[in-house]
Amino acid sequence: MAGAKKSAGPISREQMEDLVASSLILAQHGVLDAFGHVSIRHPADPKRYLLSRNLAPELVTSADIVEYDLDSEPVDANAPRGFLERYIHGEIYKSRPDVHSVIHTHSPSVVPFGVTKTLMQPIYHMSGFLGRGVPVYDIRKESGRQTDILIREPIFGEQLARVLGDKPMALMRGHGNVVVAQDVKVATYRAVYTEMNARLQLQAMMAGGPIEFLSKEEAFLTEATIEGQIHRPWDLWKAKIKIK
Ligand code: MN
Repeated sequence: MAGAKKSAGPISREQMEDLVASSLILAQHGVLDAFGHVSIRHPADPKRYLLSRNLAPELVTSADIVEYDLDSEPVDANAPRGFLERYIHGEIYKSRPDVHSVIHTHSPSVVPFGVTKTLMQPIYHMSGFLGRGVPVYDIRKESGRQTDILIREPIFGEQLARVLGDKPMALMRGHGNVVVAQDVKVATYRAVYTEMNARLQLQAMMAGGPIEFLSKEEAFLTEATIEGQIHRPWDLWKAKIKIK
């Protein structure tokens, strides 16, 4: 068959379970609702990634996972309809070989930081990863166009990936954020604690400034300590969801 692409093959049961679990966990934490999505780079082929079909994250099962190439085209021409914003995933995997999981959310408390001049900074030891900097992607500024804000074209994904640079998270103005990591567990952790940090920072601002954020060094040290214990939150969160 001309142009047919060959699948990179199945992934292990555990890898599939973790991918599905991430969507359910993030829904349970209010980070994802009907929108947003989680992907992993294919463990057997860095030029492929796995993402659910167009579906609310809480409803995702292993049967809904679709294999894409890095241009965000499904490997199976008969694949079910995908997310409009899947280019977020493909373009970041292209530009960040170190990244093996990408999460896009409309995490409610992060939105204010994408539309104001207030920088999101690490407020406590659980979000030390934010000490590496929090860039903001503004689709109107980057593209010079009026859009529906969605990353519905490869070029927007490319711009977002460029703004993200080497950071673990980027805000998307008037939209949400994108979180990346070396695996789906750490990416999930970061998505949860980005939301928590945003909430706590807003509370600290209401309590009255100036706010004493973690220093660069503290952020670096806490990131290493906490993310080294990723199994603790992951095992807890996974125990609290029901994978279908
Ligand atoms: Mn979105």
